[in-house]
Amino acid sequence: MSAALVWLRRDLRDDDHAALYHALKRHTQVYVAFVFDTDILDHLADKQDRRVEFIWESVRELKQYLQAHGADLIVLHGRAKVEIPALAQTLQVTAVFANKDYEPVAIARDEEVANTLLATNRTLHLFKDQVLFEQDEVMTQAGKPYGVFTPYKNAHLAKLNAFYLKAYPVKKYWNHLAQTNPEPMPTLESLGFQRTNLVDLRLPTGMSGAQQLFKDFLHRIDQYNDARNYPAIKGVSYLSVHLRFGTISIRQLGAAAWQLSLAGSEGAATWLSELIWRDFYFQVLFHRPDLQQGKSYKPEYESLPFPNDKQWFAAWCKGRTGFPIVDAAMRQLNQTGYMHNRLRMVVASFLVKDLLIDWRWGERYFAEKLIDFDFAANNGGWQWAASTGCDAQPYFRIFNPQSQSEKFDPQGKFIRKYLPELADLGEQQIHAPWDPHFHKKGLFDKSSAVDYPMPVVDHAVQRELALRLYKNNVKQR
Ligand code: FAD
Repeated sequence: MSAALVWLRRDLRDDDHAALYHALKRHTQVYVAFVFDTDILDHLADKQDRRVEFIWESVRELKQYLQAHGADLIVLHGRAKVEIPALAQTLQVTAVFANKDYEPVAIARDEEVANTLLATNRTLHLFKDQVLFEQDEVMTQAGKPYGVFTPYKNAHLAKLNAFYLKAYPVKKYWNHLAQTNPEPMPTLESLGFQRTNLVDLRLPTGMSGAQQLFKDFLHRIDQYNDARNYPAIKGVSYLSVHLRFGTISIRQLGAAAWQLSLAGSEGAATWLSELIWRDFYFQVLFHRPDLQQGKSYKPEYESLPFPNDKQWFAAWCKGRTGFPIVDAAMRQLNQTGYMHNRLRMVVASFLVKDLLIDWRWGERYFAEKLIDFDFAANNGGWQWAASTGCDAQPYFRIFNPQSQSEKFDPQGKFIRKYLPELADLGEQQIHAPWDPHFHKKGLFDKSSAVDYPMPVVDHAVQRELALRLYKNNVKQR
């Protein structure tokens, strides 16, 4: 009987799972483990972190599922690169199986683990699981990585077929799971963390939560095209956190979107494009590991001299810039850990091109707050908005926050939800409370009970400054 260990990381599910499938197929005694990795957790300053709670809940559910089959999920707390080789030794397994992680820091960790295991004649096997196509699978005719999305997407779609979307039939070899006595798992508190407002947010966690969200979205997928840009409407899938932690398989999502789009659903075709954006940014990061050191994708945009006003940055973080759509979005982020994609674009553009603050500051703030934080997509999104990235919008395209607000939150429903102090404003004023008409009503009078700031900047003035900053400092190649 040969034994193996499956090391879960950002793939917290027990079905359609590449590493688990290969381990169960090749070995007859398969253990499964997850490590709450102190190399990651120790860097989280806020000990009320929704991500840690989301992972904890998802791990708990997975452990229960495995226990129901007489097996268990071994849950450890420590340095993963030390704990995993030690566990492999204790369990006397011949190999460790895991799914690939494409972040440079994770690649380095996995190399270290592979070397440690090798010293005791054990092998680390890594599999593609997190994406539809990885690394070098979709390349230009010249064999280079794509830097522009549309041709990448076309090549991706040309290659995509039922083979790549097929689920791994893990359950076929289920009887190879090692039967063990159930062990308790560490509490959230013993990991050094506290409960957040996750329960109040009613964000469903774990595999069951992901399936519930996906089922709900499938009823709406045909309308995705029309509904996806309006933050006050339930138009998107809200699956990003589940994709982040692998509580649902990308193949399941890709297969559904692909089949529905072939059957003529425009909504499904657009949604599939979004999943391809995700693959795109992973492959960009894989080929440009220096992005994780804060480099601009385009070197000629490397040293833009942003003035970086700290007070304006603080106002942006708190949702106190005086621009309602920006402030409502930032409060959504702070209160829930989620922000609608349209608003991520608006607040990112506003930070960089209205407040003239380095995109890396915003990228870092999002990294702290987003429940779905994923380095590749976050960096891609920020560099897109700052015009420094691959296939980014040109630097002279600058969102006007007021017109974005009027277009995508026409009745101000979203703003009213997150800025209750403005709830009584009319449909026009809600987008620009500094409007002179509104002034007459005394919003900004000292006697006013409404606590909402005047705009920190004048958009028209800042726009000109941003254009000059880029024009004068982008290096000619
Ligand atoms: P849906 O609209 O239902 O899309 C389905 C899935 O497609 C998403 O869950 C996501 O995995 C993927 N996707 C959608 N849009 C993008 C995109 N532009 N780039 C890459 N993948 C995409 N997404 C993250 O997952 N993590 C991040 O840290 C992140 N940071 C971002 C920062 C900025 C400045 C911007 C502009 C975008 C960022 N995005 C990020 C992309 C996008 O905003 C989110 O994926 C999306 O809002 C998640 O909501 P959803 O699951 O309902 O999306």
